[in-house]
Parts: sequence; C-alpha cells; structure tokens
Amino acid sequence: MKKVTIIIPAYNEQESLPFLYERLENLMKEIKQYEFEILFVNDGSKDKTLELIKQYRKEDKRISYVDFSRNFGKEIAMIAGLDYATGDCVILMDADLQDPPELIPEMLKYWEEGYDDVYAQRKSRKGETFLKKFTSKLYYRILQTLTNVEIQKDTGDFRLLDRRCVNALKKLRESQRCSKSMFSWIGYKKKAILYDRDPRVAGRTKWNYMKLVNLAIDGITSFTTSPLRISTYIAIPTFIALFVYFIYVIAKCCITGIIIQAYQAIILLILFFSGIQILLFGIVGEYLGRIFNETKNRPLYLVNEYNEKKEMNEL
Ligand code: UDP
Ligand code: MG
Repeated sequence: MKKVTIIIPAYNEQESLPFLYERLENLMKEIKQYEFEILFVNDGSKDKTLELIKQYRKEDKRISYVDFSRNFGKEIAMIAGLDYATGDCVILMDADLQDPPELIPEMLKYWEEGYDDVYAQRKSRKGETFLKKFTSKLYYRILQTLTNVEIQKDTGDFRLLDRRCVNALKKLRESQRCSKSMFSWIGYKKKAILYDRDPRVAGRTKWNYMKLVNLAIDGITSFTTSPLRISTYIAIPTFIALFVYFIYVIAKCCITGIIIQAYQAIILLILFFSGIQILLFGIVGEYLGRIFNETKNRPLYLVNEYNEKKEMNEL
C-alpha cells in the first residue's frame, strides 16, 4: 500500500484544528487504498495547538508532529515537513482549511497517472481584499518577467509532490526560502487543478503587508540575479547622456564664448546620480545580505520534539 503524507504547518491554529481534523478524518475514511500520515509542523505556537495535536495523536496513530523550538515561519515549517515525511508522496496544506481537502482524491488520481507535482490553482479567492488580490497578481507578473523559469500563476503551496520532488526539494537548503520558486525550479511533470479558495474557517491570518513585501523581495532575489543587471541598464543611458551633455557644454562655450551659470544643473545632476547610487547600493546590499545569511550555514530550524521524542541536536 502506498503511503501519503499530508504536511500541515500550524502556527496558533487552535480554532481551525478541530474543523481540519474532522474534514481530514472523513476524507481518509473514504480513500481506503492508501495509508495516510498527517504530519503537523507546530511552528512555535503560543496557544493550545500542540496540546490539540498530541491529543489527536493519542487516539489516532496516523498523526505525527514536529514541534519547533520557536516560530521559524511557514517556509521553514514546510521544509521540515518534507524532511520528516515518510510517505511515497506528500501533500502540502494549510491548517486553516483555505485549501479544501476534498481536492486530495483528484490530486492522487493525477499522481497515479504519472504526474510528479499536482498543484492547486485558484479560480477565485473569497474573503481576501481587492488590494491583496491585485498586489499578488502584479507580483507574479514581475517575477515572471525577471526569470526564464516558468512560474505557476495563482498558485499557493497547496500541492501534491512525488517522492522524487521531495528529495529534490530537500537538497535546496538555502535559509531565505521561497518555495514557490523552488517548486518551479525543480521542474518534473506538473499538472494544475482548478479550485475556489475558501476564506479561512476560524482564527486570524498571520500575514500582514510587511511580511508579504518581505516574501516578495525574498522571492525575487532568491530566484534571479537580474535586478543586479538594472545597474547596467541604468548606467548605459546615463553615460550616453553624460557624454552628450559634456560635448554640448564644451561646444557652446567655444562657439558663444559665454560661461554658463551651471549651479542649477549641477544640483540636479548631483541629485540624479546620488539617487541612482542609492538605488544600486540597495540592490547590491540585498544580495550581500543573502550571501551573509547563507555563509552562516546554520541549520534551517531546531526541533524541540518529534512524536514525543525530545530532539537532542547531536551530530
Ligand atoms: N503558518 C506557520 N508559521 C507562521 C505563519 C503561518 O506555520 O509563522 C501557517 C499557518 O498556521 C497556516 C499557513 O501557514 O497553516 C498559512 O498561514 P495563513 O493562513 O496565516 O496565511 P494566508 O492563508 O493568509 O496567506
Ligand atoms: Mg490562510
């Protein structure tokens, strides 16, 4: 019997978990031809999330959990899930039921047909603001123009991954992660299935705009170094303009014999060039920061407990 691991990162999800467990239990009752493992990654929750998970595990041995030593963020929680998953395929899913578990049978069907990465694509997003929808669309567009790896549109992390995709993803150990681009980067046979994204069942979203902006910048800089090329693109016309202006000034001086009152032009030029320099510094700093973080070579996360067993962090 093939084993399916459902990975669920959870951060302060005590309100959602009962609904989630019920839906998953019903689903697992229906699908008899697979063995299931539900792997919760408790991302340093401050509420009763871990207690609930432990309670479920007492009655249902299909449930396992990884408990982080603190909050590391969803991206890291997902890679931990991939590290600890034991299934022949995994399904990544949010705890708040925004990803309907009812899509899982369809995902499994395509997996059996030989697809390695079956991802859920949103037809609509209920309960999300216009601004969030608009910015996310714009972001996809920008990311796609900056890179030549194909990026799946309107896709979150809800997907089924074959074991070989999991093994591939486990090899990508950078600390500032953007899973979306990693799923694209690994390639393999992909298949989209369409669905309507539901609003979350309970509790509140852990995202705010600052987090989203950070994720967006991480996404771009982890995926491509083409922003570095902006410096070249800006520098070329700048130098042409500089050259032309220089010739013009010299020629005018020679022909008319009038010395130009140039202080205004100088101020403008200074503003212009310092502006460019600040921008370029920012971009270089962006990558420098990434190099700094990667060279520290720290473990991506620290585990407090895996299925009741204390993690000792030995070599
Ligand atoms: N999550 C997490 N760590 C965090 C923030 C969120 O593991 O620091 C989990 C959260 O429990 C949920 C999923 O990531 O299962 C998606 O989070 P959320 O619903 O808050 O994000 P949204 O759906 O609004 O983008
Ligand atoms: Mg959500």
